[in-house]
Amino acid sequence: MLHSVAMHAASGPVLAAQYEVSSLPEQIYARVFRLLKPGKPVPEIHVVFRKYANAKAQIQLKAGVLHVKISDTLAVAPDEVQGALAEILLSKLFRLRVPVECQAVYRRYLNRKDVRQDLDQVRRTRGRKHLADPAGEFYNLTQLFDELNFTYFFGLMARPTLGWSRQASRTMLGHYDPTHHTIVLSKILDREDMPKLAVEYVMYHEMLHLRHPVEHKGNRRCVHTATFKEEEKRFAQLAEAKKLLRKLV
Ligand SMILES: [Zn+2]
Repeated sequence: MLHSVAMHAASGPVLAAQYEVSSLPEQIYARVFRLLKPGKPVPEIHVVFRKYANAKAQIQLKAGVLHVKISDTLAVAPDEVQGALAEILLSKLFRLRVPVECQAVYRRYLNRKDVRQDLDQVRRTRGRKHLADPAGEFYNLTQLFDELNFTYFFGLMARPTLGWSRQASRTMLGHYDPTHHTIVLSKILDREDMPKLAVEYVMYHEMLHLRHPVEHKGNRRCVHTATFKEEEKRFAQLAEAKKLLRKLV
């Protein structure tokens, strides 16, 4: 413990919060670079803020240029935090020990209540798959959900976010995304010549996913549990619906 503290002290007060107010990100990275690699020429540095769904950051040294991509959610972070992140990223890039202080500063920032709330908000809105209107062209997912909810679940299932996928996938006809509490159906089903039974079945199947969370047995994920399969049998014309889908895929 003492040893690691001493090591960090020896490498200089990198995280001394001495960054001036609102340094350019490039300046921050250049400064940290000089501290970690004294005597080495500072490369050209590009820092861009990207619209990631979380507090993500990446660093790469390519053809002598240092490329840094940081989530724009971190763009407003104080210089001290930017500096800590710079030191974390550059230390990792150069395979150096990441100073505990940097990690602490960065983590403390991410744990700040206002920051956490902002990140949650961003995750909720951005992480959402780009969905098309549930009203669709031929099938209205909201209506379909409500009908199935009434028929099979006594109308008791809270409606999640619903949407048609933008791409007409043949391999993934539907999926339930628990993070965003969203049921997505492949646009390929929103066609005039698509029997309603097929669309209903896919929706019903995804509704069951919402109802039956994935079970973990050891390190195996069981998505279609025995109870899931049992409940799926309640669907009227199950065999016929499956046949329709088999023809499609
Ligand atoms: Zn499934």
